[in-house]
Amino acid sequence: MSRVALPSVTHRHLRHLEIQNETGYRTRAIRTLVVRALRFYGMAVRGVVRIAYSPVGGHRGCAALGNSAARAGLNMALTLPRDPGEADSEQFARVIRHEVLHWRGAGHADMGPDILYCQGPAPEWAAGVTLEHVVPKAADPTEARDRKLAHARSMLKCARTRAKRAETIVQKWARRVRAAERAVERALVVETAPVDVAAGGGKP
Ligand SMILES: [Zn+2]
Repeated sequence: MSRVALPSVTHRHLRHLEIQNETGYRTRAIRTLVVRALRFYGMAVRGVVRIAYSPVGGHRGCAALGNSAARAGLNMALTLPRDPGEADSEQFARVIRHEVLHWRGAGHADMGPDILYCQGPAPEWAAGVTLEHVVPKAADPTEARDRKLAHARSMLKCARTRAKRAETIVQKWARRVRAAERAVERALVVETAPVDVAAGGGKP
């Protein structure tokens, strides 16, 4: 039913229920619905449930079959509409009911039409739960300006350090050039120095 991949089950999911919420909907209400459904059907509160925005809209789900393999029946993927105006906690609860029954081992052939097609009266255990979409906090302009100033100051400090280091390198090579030039000059003086024949003694 869903185009969202099932999350992978790890050892800890044998003991705990993990809600991997990738949406802006509050996790608390999602968890409440899943926990209530599990308890209603007499199941352990464990496994991993991923919630993503529906790529095609609406409320959808997908779950492993509880009786198919040793570790199956522990992972579930659910989707919620990207538009919070379309979110319907009762419809979401019907989808959770369908998927939880898969965890319990029920195939589609075992489900009545209401459970199979996620229709009919809302599950009683879903009463009083509202899906709340958290509106992202607007960026604070003061904070943004302060961050920009701090960044510019630190970049300037780095640039000055680099400039200082470059100047040190320039001075080092300038010293070496001067030293090398002096060595060349000294060698030229020695090689071209006139031989004092008279003082030395001349020919033996
Ligand atoms: Zn199904």
